[in-house]
Amino acid sequence: MANAQASVLEHFEAPLASRRFPLPSQLETGAALVRIEMAGICGTDVHLWKGQLPISLPVILGHETVGRIEQLGEALERDWTGQLLRVGDRVTWNSATSCGECYFCAEKRQPTRCPHRRAYGVGYRCDQPPHLLGGYAEFHYLCPDTTIFKIPDNLPTESVIGAGCALITAIHGVERICVERAADISSDQDTNGMPILPSLWRDNVVVQGAGPVGIAALAVAKNAGAGTVIVIGGPKQRLEMARRFGADHTIDIDEVRDSSGRIEAVRQLTRGFGADAVLECVGSPVVVTEGVEMCRDGGKYLVLGHYCDAGATPFNPHVVTRKQLQVFGSWSSEPRHLRAALEFLRTTQKQFPFASMVTHRFPLERANEALMTSARWQSAKSVIVPA
Ligand SMILES: [Zn+2]
Ligand SMILES: [Zn+2]
Repeated sequence: MANAQASVLEHFEAPLASRRFPLPSQLETGAALVRIEMAGICGTDVHLWKGQLPISLPVILGHETVGRIEQLGEALERDWTGQLLRVGDRVTWNSATSCGECYFCAEKRQPTRCPHRRAYGVGYRCDQPPHLLGGYAEFHYLCPDTTIFKIPDNLPTESVIGAGCALITAIHGVERICVERAADISSDQDTNGMPILPSLWRDNVVVQGAGPVGIAALAVAKNAGAGTVIVIGGPKQRLEMARRFGADHTIDIDEVRDSSGRIEAVRQLTRGFGADAVLECVGSPVVVTEGVEMCRDGGKYLVLGHYCDAGATPFNPHVVTRKQLQVFGSWSSEPRHLRAALEFLRTTQKQFPFASMVTHRFPLERANEALMTSARWQSAKSVIVPA
C-alpha cells in the first residue's frame, strides 16, 4: 500500500518524529487527497509543541497548507466559491470546520465558537485513519465538508503561506471592530458573503505587536482606510517589515522601554487624543493595560493575540467606563474570511508583500528545525516544502 511521510508531535517539547502513514485506499464521499506543496509554521504550532494548549497526541502539526489535488472523492466537484475542482488544482482550505447546526452556528451565526469545531494540525490524532490531517506531511486528507479554495494562478503559494492564518485572523478581528453586529449582518450571506469591512476611514490605529498577526492587522487596517497606523514592537527587522507594509510610525519597545513613554508617544502622534482603535497582536497580558490607555475616549480596543491563556493581569475597569471604550475579542476565522484573504492577497501583492515574509525553507525531514527557528524567533516565517 502506498504511504506518506509525516513529521509527528509525539511528546511535548521533544523533537518531532518522522513517521510513515498509509494513504487511504478509498476516499469518503466529498473528501479529497492533496499533495502538499508548502506548509507554514505558525506561532501557535510552537505553543502546541510546548504543550500550552490542551491537545491529544500524537498529532501532525500544520494548519497553514497549500497543495495540489491528487484525488477527488465522489460528489466533490466545486470549491467553496463554486469553481470546478480538478486533479492537479492548487488549493488551500480552512483548517477548522464548524458543524453548521448548533446554537452558535445556526442561531447566533458565530461558527468560530462552535463546540464541535476541530482543526487540522491541532485537533486530530494521527494514529487513527485517515492519519494525514496536518500540514507537516507529504499528503493531506481533506475530510468531507472541508471548505476548499482554488488558488488563482496569479497568486503565488508563498503569498498564501506568508500571510498564513495571521491574515484571516486579522480580517475577522478588524471586521469585529468595524461592524458591531458583523455576525448578524453576514447571516444573509453566509454561503458566499464577503466580510463587511466598511471602514477605518482616516482613523488613527495602533497595532501592538510586529509579529505575523501584527503585520497582517496593519495591512488589513490600511486596506480598510486607516489614516495613520502606528506599530509598536520589535526587534528592529520586524519593525522594518512593518514599514515595508505601510506603517506610518513605528515605536521600538527596545528604545521606548517604559509603558508611559509609549502611551505618550501615541498621544503625540494623535494630536493628544489617543487612537481611534488599538489592535492587540502580542499575546502578553501586560500589554492590554497599556493598550486601553492608548485608545482615545470613545475608542475601540481589540484583543486579538491571546490564543493561549497567558494568565491574568491587573486591570482597572474604571478606564473602560470613563473612556467609554468598546472592547472586542475575536477567535479564529470563517470560510468567508479565507475567501476575502485570497482576493485581498491577489489584488494587493505590490502594496503588501506577504510572500517576502517566507524567509526560511526546510524539507520535510528537517521539520523539527523549521519549528525551532520559529520558536527562537529567528525567522519571519518558516515553511516546510516536501520534496
Ligand atoms: Zn495559526
Ligand atoms: Zn456548530
